[in-house]
Amino acid sequence: MSDLFRLSIKEASEGLMSGSFKPSELLDSVIKRVETVEPNINAFITKTLDTAREEAKKSDQRYETKRKLSGLDGVPVAIKDVFCTEGVKTTAASKILENFIPSYDATVIKRLKDAGAIIVGKVNTDEFTMGSSTENSAFGITHNPWDLSRVPGGSSGGSAAAVSADECLFALGTDTGGSIRQPSSFCSVTGLKVTYGLISRNGVISYASSFDTIGPIAKSAADVALILNVIAGNDPMDSTTVRNNLPDYSSFLNKKIKGKKIGVPKEFFGQGIDPEVNKIIENSLETLKSLGAEVEETSLPSTDLAIAMYYIIAKSEASSNLARYDGIRYGKSEIENLESKVNNLIELYFSNRTLGFGDEAKRSIMMGTHTLSSGYHDAYYKKASQIRTLVKKEYEEAFRKYYALITPVSPFPAFKIGEKIDDPLTMYLADANTVPINPAGIPAMSVPAGFTKENLPVGMQIIGPHFGEGQIIEVADAFQEATDFHKKKPNL
Ligand code: GLN
Repeated sequence: MSDLFRLSIKEASEGLMSGSFKPSELLDSVIKRVETVEPNINAFITKTLDTAREEAKKSDQRYETKRKLSGLDGVPVAIKDVFCTEGVKTTAASKILENFIPSYDATVIKRLKDAGAIIVGKVNTDEFTMGSSTENSAFGITHNPWDLSRVPGGSSGGSAAAVSADECLFALGTDTGGSIRQPSSFCSVTGLKVTYGLISRNGVISYASSFDTIGPIAKSAADVALILNVIAGNDPMDSTTVRNNLPDYSSFLNKKIKGKKIGVPKEFFGQGIDPEVNKIIENSLETLKSLGAEVEETSLPSTDLAIAMYYIIAKSEASSNLARYDGIRYGKSEIENLESKVNNLIELYFSNRTLGFGDEAKRSIMMGTHTLSSGYHDAYYKKASQIRTLVKKEYEEAFRKYYALITPVSPFPAFKIGEKIDDPLTMYLADANTVPINPAGIPAMSVPAGFTKENLPVGMQIIGPHFGEGQIIEVADAFQEATDFHKKKPNL
């Protein structure tokens, strides 16, 4: 019973239902785990253990009276620190929001609470979700549970590390260009980037509004299905959420994938891909073939334009989204500093933003302001928007033929802390395989697919058509039924 923290949601739910243990006991086990591993991992920015204990007691009563609220009732969850949580500090890992306490819950937080999930805390991210290693956080570095000298990936590095180290049973992350998938790949957990508009972003701090999505990071595709059932769907507070009558995502589990056509775009296997990663994905394709899938090479010719296109559009939108942080409406301000040398409003803005933002946020503001400025707009933003349409069309075309597409999530496994932080361009290349998906607006999942000789996790990316989360879950679940990579645990 002491190892309850190891359970998946599905296993925990069975145990809770049968009365083998109570939600408070599950939570106690998770809290002990957090106390043991946090000194090494540092996934959390804020822990909410007292509230969690109170909520778990309420959940105990619901199970005793056979009135559980959902399959997530009593299940401990960690939240990336960009989701507004009523009364709980929400920093986006930025100094500028160091003391920001939201007065309301993001829609998905409310949905999780209504479903009885137990929030154990807010976890680390790159500042304003800009980055691929979680090193851009103002609140310290999160370590990869598989090798503490390496990054957990980013920007949802805290979420992926917390799930991988069993500090929660699942987590929420956000994905603008890979921030759920890449850390899931680096930490050997299952993370889903959903179709743009499937899940409400009301109350979630924005990076690039036309790419931003939120989604689950969990221990299996089956668990991802359970979480989606709770959080997906229309929200009057987010007009980009379009659908309501969504499928029961669990109905895609335990299916046969015999005869399903799977495309493998050759552009994702070229130069710059670690040979060990290549090999692991090839082996995964063999597994899918052995399950009866028809695997075939295909081509997405615009793939090599995606990085440049993505970063131009993302930073353009970011420069506008970050304009609201001036220390007057939100966050820390020089105005509270009695020794301040600031003389007027303009100087106050300068001082707050200079002190409040980290390097990557500043880089985003400068790049985005440049690409949107008159004289450069046509050459950068407009051109990038045209390429975006091209990329989107190529994917639409591919999904006329294929049930799913498969690529590596990242060209390489987790890199060393400090290795890329001073070289933003190399850091941006870490996202080569994940960024094309967001401009296309389609869903994609990272699924544990194997380990390198150094025992570093490698993830396989399963891409689906718009609102094709069900078919991604179907392929991922079939793969996880046939393999046990997702069950392997880091040695902590
Ligand atoms: N690393 C990418 C970026 O910095 C993606 C980040 C994300 O998906 N939030 O833009």
